[in-house]
Amino acid sequence: MIQADIHTHTHYFHGRNTVEEMYKSAQKKNLKYYGFSEHTPLPDDFSCLLYRKGDMHKAFADYACDVVNLKNKATRAALIYPEDSWPTVLFGMELDFTPKHLEYMDTLIESHPFDYIIGTVHFIDSQSIALWDHSSASKEETFLFFEQYYQKIAELAKWGKADIIAHPDFVKIHCVKDFAEWLETKHAQNCVEQALYEVRAAGMVLEVSTGGLKKTCKEIHPAPRIMEIAAKLGLAISFSSDSHNTETVAYAFDELAQFASSYGYKQHVIFEKRIPKILDF
Ligand SMILES: [Zn+2]
Ligand SMILES: [Zn+2]
Repeated sequence: MIQADIHTHTHYFHGRNTVEEMYKSAQKKNLKYYGFSEHTPLPDDFSCLLYRKGDMHKAFADYACDVVNLKNKATRAALIYPEDSWPTVLFGMELDFTPKHLEYMDTLIESHPFDYIIGTVHFIDSQSIALWDHSSASKEETFLFFEQYYQKIAELAKWGKADIIAHPDFVKIHCVKDFAEWLETKHAQNCVEQALYEVRAAGMVLEVSTGGLKKTCKEIHPAPRIMEIAAKLGLAISFSSDSHNTETVAYAFDELAQFASSYGYKQHVIFEKRIPKILDF
């Protein structure tokens, strides 16, 4: 059984529920670890239309305060009432990789006592992947976009300051068929392998997530072909639901466990105070 869900969101950016509400859901699911990984505020020249309006730096500081308070409460309660369900609270963030803004990313990492950093590629240069108009792109342009995405993942890994690579085929969300076709090419497999090689060389972990099952692509992240490459490289994995509301905490984790074990995986990784811990599932 998977014991940890470590990529989740709250109402602070574009999720629906509070820190406390998300945690209650994790208690009901009997998870041993529950990790919060809210999005980071974006540099001024980037924007995400999906986020709430307002001061996202203030929202992030409020999020951090809620998580730290909950972490203290859960640590105390677990020692006093060990017979109750008190998943260990892990404090993370989903950091947008914006290589033009290295100092900005450093400042965010140093801003709070994070247990772990999830590095994420949601943008290729300033183009938001979620808002990319795939319908007006030619097949060559689409395939080039996929290739650029894996170059960004390699760049993020070489930067080396995150612990986990988020949803490592996010680029497929609106064009899963084209992505599957691209992945069958030798060139694509080399691109992916090169990126995953850098992830391993950086001592990082690849996220395997049911978040994609809830998106239009309706697939686990990453796709089977990428899992094969990850397994071949012996790359370690972490598990998550990328949940944005209480109903999807630990979403389809039985399916997720089966999926990962079909590639030979028996363990997953969590982080406490930036130190990896390996768990069986
Ligand atoms: Zn994400
Ligand atoms: Zn996320």
